[in-house]
Amino acid sequence: MPWHEISEYDDKRDVKSHFLANGYDLAEFDVVIVGAGSAGCVLANRLSADPAVSVALVEAGGRDLSPWIHVPVGYFKTIKDPALNWMYRTQPDPGLNGRALNWPRGKTLGGSSSINGLLYVRGQPQDYDRWRQMGNVGWGWDDVAPLFRRSEAWEDGGDDLRGGDGELTVSRSRQSWRVVDAWVEAAKAEGFAFNPDYNGESQEGVGYFQLTARNGLRCSSAKAFLGPARRRPNLKIYTHVEIHDIELDGPRAVAVRGRRHGSPLRIGARGEIVLSAGAIGSPQILMLSGIGAGTELGRHGIQVRHEIDGVGKNLQDHLQARPIYRCTTPTINTRTRGLFNQARIGFEYMLNRSGPLTLAASLGTGFLKTRPDLETPDIQFHIQPFSANNPTTDTDDFDAFTASVLQLRPESAGEIRLNSAQAGDPPLIHPNYLATPLDQQTIVEGIRMARRICRQSPVRELIVEEHAPGAPVADEDFDGLLDWARNTATTIYHPTGTCKMGADAMAVVDDRLRVHGIERLRVADASIMPSIVSGNTNAPAIMIGEKASDLVREDMRA
Ligand SMILES: Cc1cc2nc3c(=O)[nH]c(=O)nc-3n(C[C@H](O)[C@H](O)[C@H](O)COP(=O)(O)OP(=O)(O)OC[C@H]3O[C@@H](n4cnc5c(N)ncnc54)[C@H](O)[C@@H]3O)c2cc1C
Repeated sequence: MPWHEISEYDDKRDVKSHFLANGYDLAEFDVVIVGAGSAGCVLANRLSADPAVSVALVEAGGRDLSPWIHVPVGYFKTIKDPALNWMYRTQPDPGLNGRALNWPRGKTLGGSSSINGLLYVRGQPQDYDRWRQMGNVGWGWDDVAPLFRRSEAWEDGGDDLRGGDGELTVSRSRQSWRVVDAWVEAAKAEGFAFNPDYNGESQEGVGYFQLTARNGLRCSSAKAFLGPARRRPNLKIYTHVEIHDIELDGPRAVAVRGRRHGSPLRIGARGEIVLSAGAIGSPQILMLSGIGAGTELGRHGIQVRHEIDGVGKNLQDHLQARPIYRCTTPTINTRTRGLFNQARIGFEYMLNRSGPLTLAASLGTGFLKTRPDLETPDIQFHIQPFSANNPTTDTDDFDAFTASVLQLRPESAGEIRLNSAQAGDPPLIHPNYLATPLDQQTIVEGIRMARRICRQSPVRELIVEEHAPGAPVADEDFDGLLDWARNTATTIYHPTGTCKMGADAMAVVDDRLRVHGIERLRVADASIMPSIVSGNTNAPAIMIGEKASDLVREDMRA
């Protein structure tokens, strides 16, 4: 078939309508990347930097044109917008007393980095040293720290740890709220040190979140990495193309197959295919291609091409318990109500790119230990100058703040399973939260710590009452606090680990991110994490994209 350019950037109506009936069979590329998310956009940029390498970046969603993607506070809208979001929902989870949760994932250029809470957190050096300790050569902290630096443009400039001239702008929040400042002071009074940079020498302490934001606007992976690369003639970006499976020639991956506006489509790969479809998308595509556990594939009548039991397993996420405190000082809850307030906020943003519209998912943070014998923090706080019944509903109509707390390294692991052999049918998500005694103990201790901090000055003086869990659930009542967490806790949207890296029987990719047993196929996204990192997962996913691009380039040269 001749070459048909259907890049969204110059999608010609006549070309589209002519080929819709027949389907598309696109020319071959050196590298085909599936998924333009946090990791995929980095790969597209780095690989297409060599004009001799042709790269196709294939994305199921559309362009990132919605203003709500770019204005930070738009997070609260895109989180429930099916035009930009896969809108997954988990299965009822026993650890949450049978509740099911919404699991948004980005479906647009930038992927989840276009709809996430903007918080920039690298995790702890020990996370990566643990990956190395599991046998993954090249993934220790000393190996990956330069990759974090390479991507980053930190507002204070570069040094040994922080990057100064990368594409991804990282800046401090332009917001300050009295109640959050008071929480930070109260945490200091409780004995926790202030840490001005949790992405610096040490993560431990309390302070303020850093954001993937540039001049008051979101800096998604698409903005950072596709922006400068998208006009390169050797990079083609295909939007609205949902990939269903991988075409194999014996053990070799040769093409991706999917649909665009209902028509079948195939894109050939001369060199290799990289799956960057995220922790839900990547294992689903593998299973639909016949790569997975034999029993799971057999259940849906899928021919087994290569058996790997771990595909979709080892699913880890961060679950947050969300204590809420009514307070006397103004919060977003009341300050954004009414036309007058909204007009004022809009003006402030237009004039200075500041004010509540620059608000990310959280403002204050703390990386703390629930036990003194731990080497590094095991919980993280997200302090938000607002409250809501759950993160996707409207804020409460009284002033309050949220002191959400999560366990950084949960032991519990769930799985992604197919619902059917139909591509486009959302998979079954079983998170399996709070399944181990350590996880139960840590979340309860986290809630207790939230309470202890809120009993300290100066935040104590601003608090009217603990709205949730509320006074009737006493500190000593372990079962009561755990039950409250089971009934109310929510995800903080960090699924990882479903195509884990390693050499054991459950590993899906090796430490060069090559799918075991299949040639010319890699996975590079949050799914390859062998264990979840101690922090939010966007920066690590971007680092994985950087690492993957080095690996692909090295192997192309070999
Ligand atoms: C609501 C929300 C808030 C979050 N807040 C934060 C935060 O504040 N800080 C932080 O660090 N992390 C946060 N995260 C998590 C972080 O954004 C993700 O861990 C990270 O973006 C994952 O990167 P990825 O490359 O693995 O996948 P993604 O960025 O999700 O990219 C996957 C891409 O593949 C595409 N795709 C999937 N299937 C197919 C297919 N079949 N065919 C073609 N394309 C496909 C998707 O549309 C998507 O564009 C948040 C996530 C969400 C959803």
